[in-house]
Amino acid sequence: MTSFREPSLQAAEEQPAEDRALRPQRMSEMVGQRAVYERLEIAIDAARKRGETLGHILLDGPPGLGKTTFATCIPRELGTTLQIASGAALAAPKDLLPYLTNAAEGSVLFIDEIHRLPIAVEEFLYPAMEDFRIDITLGDGVAARTINMPLRPFTLVGATTRAGLISAPLRDRFVIREHLDYYSPAELAEIVRRSAAKLQMPMDDASADEIARRSRGTPRLANNRLRWIRDFSTSRAGGAIDVEIARSALEMQGIDELGLDGFDRKYLETIQRVFAGGPVGIEAIAHTMSSAADTLEDDVEPFLLRCELVIRTPRGRRITPKGEEHLGTPPQPGRQNTLF
Ligand code: ADP
Repeated sequence: MTSFREPSLQAAEEQPAEDRALRPQRMSEMVGQRAVYERLEIAIDAARKRGETLGHILLDGPPGLGKTTFATCIPRELGTTLQIASGAALAAPKDLLPYLTNAAEGSVLFIDEIHRLPIAVEEFLYPAMEDFRIDITLGDGVAARTINMPLRPFTLVGATTRAGLISAPLRDRFVIREHLDYYSPAELAEIVRRSAAKLQMPMDDASADEIARRSRGTPRLANNRLRWIRDFSTSRAGGAIDVEIARSALEMQGIDELGLDGFDRKYLETIQRVFAGGPVGIEAIAHTMSSAADTLEDDVEPFLLRCELVIRTPRGRRITPKGEEHLGTPPQPGRQNTLF
């Protein structure tokens, strides 16, 4: 099913060259996520000092928070090579085979959206992760035989927006598991200042703060908003940027003070108007919005849940009084008491 979503949330490999230009090249250039950064730095340092292969790493968290950035920086810190694959594109073990056999000793294999691996591919991966070998079956029926092929030790970095969908056997084979959380407005403002410098844009602190506040705690959105403001300013303000220009540009895109865009508000409005505030199942919301449940669960809901504009109950999603207020409608009396 097709669904509208702003381009900011596309897969990393589909991002334009300019986006790659903004991506930090070294872990030390990354802003925020300090606890994750420090734990990874220790593991990388120890692996390097002992000359060992770094343990497999699982990164989870909403889109645009830096999973791919960490995954691309780690091999640079290790001084090794990187291969990139996507769980959605690995339909059968044979699709994974070239990545595993090509992996140089100590190199990194990054699998994005690892929760989308079919079970047959996942099972093929277990011995590769655990013992650096794969089992290949040749022939059919009684003539079938399995051969064992050793691999060079490598590090698997898996990224997922849905840690809950990863099976326990796969999850347990990752020795390092890290969750990336939303960035604070101060951290995002720092990212905006650094990206503006890379784009050679003028940027005062008030404008950086405004963009940060309206970027849903997500660096990818902050960078996207920044690029749009740059276009707006070039076209309408002779290249100048101040907080008023930034605000006008973002309002023109329908981005409100909380950083929600039209699609986020449409989700809230659907629950409120069509389903009388909920509770309502995600599939029903998705159908009504002509969207996909996956898109809503990955891109829209995490931030709205985090802001307490909606809640998830055993019977479905409900809008909260805060969510109603955000839409500009007074909270419905009585609803607060029947959230569950
Ligand atoms: P994910 O893989 O989690 O969807 P990405 O790693 O692709 O997210 O991040 C999206 C963009 O946001 C990157 O291109 C990068 O420019 C920026 N970004 C992400 N995390 C950081 C960070 N910690 N510091 C600076 N920029 C970041």
